[in-house]
Amino acid sequence: MPPASEETLEAAVIPVQILRSPEALAAIRTELGDCTRCKLHGQGRKQIVFGVGNPAADVMFVGEAPGADEDTQGVPFVGRAGQLLTKMIEAMGLSRDEVYIANVLKCRPPGNRDPQPDEVESCEPFLFQQIASIQPKVIVALGAFAARALLKTQDPISRMRGRVYKYRGADLIPTFHPSFLLRSPGYKREAWEDLKKALGILGRQPPSAGAARE
Ligand code: URA
Repeated sequence: MPPASEETLEAAVIPVQILRSPEALAAIRTELGDCTRCKLHGQGRKQIVFGVGNPAADVMFVGEAPGADEDTQGVPFVGRAGQLLTKMIEAMGLSRDEVYIANVLKCRPPGNRDPQPDEVESCEPFLFQQIASIQPKVIVALGAFAARALLKTQDPISRMRGRVYKYRGADLIPTFHPSFLLRSPGYKREAWEDLKKALGILGRQPPSAGAARE
């Protein structure tokens, strides 16, 4: 029997019969409740942004934290960066309904400041449970913050991207955050290489040249 790692203990919270189901995610959402585990609950968040998409997705995208639009709508990646992420997903021949999208933090930091270590520590067990439930084959970490938080490193994104990491049963691919790509569109080509790598792991081809490069 393998040693009881943190990962297997977390996964054990979800009964195996309901892994990859809406019920499993609903159970995690219920456990999260009207969360007051970190200070962000008292710093102007409108609502918790849990995650959206297919409970049995093969690909999961993980960003940093909700922004103002996400805080208002309760859905991750719906603002300008979200619209670019949607285009990137569609360029892969996928839809938002087929993948799962979440963030490291489920509440908006005030003024979109960087998440703080205590906030990550309080919130990440819920992301880990989402990963354990969904069991994606590929996790695309969007931006330096998400990649560093997941991989527990301080490496710059430029060093992390281009590589594939084994992570919680999935292949993790760090790429640039869509907000960065909006500011620096010259990096879209590299991001598209990363997304093609994700497709390759799934045994899929991009349907066309890809909107992410436009
Ligand atoms: N940026 C993120 O990292 N996550 C969102 O949900 C929106 C913008």
